[in-house]
Amino acid sequence: MKLNLTAKILIGLVLGMITGLVLNVWAPDLFGTLDTYLFNPLGQIFLGLINMLVVPIVFFSLVLGVAGLGDTKKLGRMGVKTIATFLTTTAIAITIGLLLASAIQPGSNAPLSQEDRDSASYEAEETPSVGETLLDIIPSNPIQALAEGNMLQIIAFSIFIGIALTVLGEKTKGIYKLVEQGNEIFMYLVGLVMKFAPYGTFGLIASALGEAGFESLQSILMYVVVVLLALVIHAIVTYGSIIAFLAKKNPIWFFKGFAPAMTVGFSTSSSNATLPISMETAQKNLNVSKPASSFVQPLGATINMDGTAIMQGVATIFIAQVYGIELTFIQLVTVVLTAVLASIGTAGVPGVGLILLALVLNQVGLPVAGIGLILGIDRLLDMCRTAINISGDAAVALYISESEKKRKIKQQRGEA
Ligand code: ASP
Repeated sequence: MKLNLTAKILIGLVLGMITGLVLNVWAPDLFGTLDTYLFNPLGQIFLGLINMLVVPIVFFSLVLGVAGLGDTKKLGRMGVKTIATFLTTTAIAITIGLLLASAIQPGSNAPLSQEDRDSASYEAEETPSVGETLLDIIPSNPIQALAEGNMLQIIAFSIFIGIALTVLGEKTKGIYKLVEQGNEIFMYLVGLVMKFAPYGTFGLIASALGEAGFESLQSILMYVVVVLLALVIHAIVTYGSIIAFLAKKNPIWFFKGFAPAMTVGFSTSSSNATLPISMETAQKNLNVSKPASSFVQPLGATINMDGTAIMQGVATIFIAQVYGIELTFIQLVTVVLTAVLASIGTAGVPGVGLILLALVLNQVGLPVAGIGLILGIDRLLDMCRTAINISGDAAVALYISESEKKRKIKQQRGEA
């Protein structure tokens, strides 16, 4: 049954790709009609269904996870370990992007005309500063945080409720039970929504590829190749090491088990929207403990975006090369720091990588208009980096889960 669904999603993905590209090349008019009445509605229904579950899943499972830890010390330990691992993997990711782009030089021989360069433009959006984000973590109105889906605030609020439930114990048994049952309900709904995933995936991919097609690729092919290569290297080397050496599991088993969530991440381009599915997949297929999954993955969807960091590294070098600007070592370090810190406050939703990139370019004085050069292809790369982003969250969740399990066994042995 499980394998069946994975296979079905993959079929949806491949069929969607073929349909989108074929229509883009041979029947753009037909694509327009089909997109309006079939692909787009299918995709939007699927997105709506999973988006509906994000906030309640994060709230219920995190409250339950924290309350289930039994003591607040454990929470602190897990928190420090998780955030330290997130920041380290993101720094590694962007460094891989910078190194690979410096070595391959995708922007030096790009067949971009002067006209391309002159006509490139991009309007940067405002991003909150790191200080603002940190101060903003405690919600002054938790209901508003839930209503707006402000992930960091929801996480903070849920942790507080979880701590209270732990400390009050017997007194709040009823609410604990309620949260437990709420969690059951939403986990069941995720399973139900997943049944629609093959069709939703088909619709989303056909719609995206039908629109973007191959054309947007040509002039910046090398840029795309370098980003994809860096994503693959990061998945194999960085996540492979976390899984093999820290979690002591087989990386192939990990990627096989997590594949259904990766395909959904790919088709939705949103770590946030994929959250219910990536949590369920990690818990069911990778045996990640519920507390670890419900603590690490929602946090990761917001603050750990390695695929996005890779794109920023490669894009910064690419744009510098296209405009013939040499970056100094200090500027490169600034890129790493800005990208890592900026990713903390931005939620994993489609296209957020470009906004972060504008921030990074600004910081090192590169022309933000350069983003215009890579805009056309970004939709497709966004899909790939989102699949990597959520894999990173799952790899860290597995590591935290395994290390907590080991600690427990050791403690029990010590007590015996
Ligand atoms: N779409 C990505 C995510 O949700 C973020 C980005 O790179 O734009 O993880």
